[in-house]
Amino acid sequence: MEELPCKGCKGLCCGPVPVTESELRRIKKKIKSMPLKLRSQLENQQRFYGTCIFYDLDHDRCGIHTVRPNICRMFGYYQELVCFRKPELATKNMNSSTQQEYVGTLSIDFTWKDMKR
Ligand code: SF4
Ligand code: SF4
Repeated sequence: MEELPCKGCKGLCCGPVPVTESELRRIKKKIKSMPLKLRSQLENQQRFYGTCIFYDLDHDRCGIHTVRPNICRMFGYYQELVCFRKPELATKNMNSSTQQEYVGTLSIDFTWKDMKR
């Protein structure tokens, strides 16, 4: 699958995203397992207002890439989730199998303080 040209975007499309219960559980586990220094570096970065709380600006990438929510994985490849830098890659259609049970929104309902509990 052709990749999106994400380098240099600095998290342009990474804002609040909906999460399922299991995604949230995986993210919390990942955050808790991070070395304290790394975790605190990621937590305390100065992000633009509205940028996802896990975006790693220092490295220009998702700070929780291996456990990022499904919606982040789908972005750019679905007609409902078009990336303006490569709209031609948004060819798939969302259907009932891509619908999920969301428990809330990352960055809004769940923030750094919820990750450490
Ligand atoms: S999906 Fe598109 S807008 Fe988002 S970081 Fe990648 S290239 Fe940039
Ligand atoms: S979890 Fe990662 S990929 Fe998803 S919005 Fe946040 S920084 Fe972007």
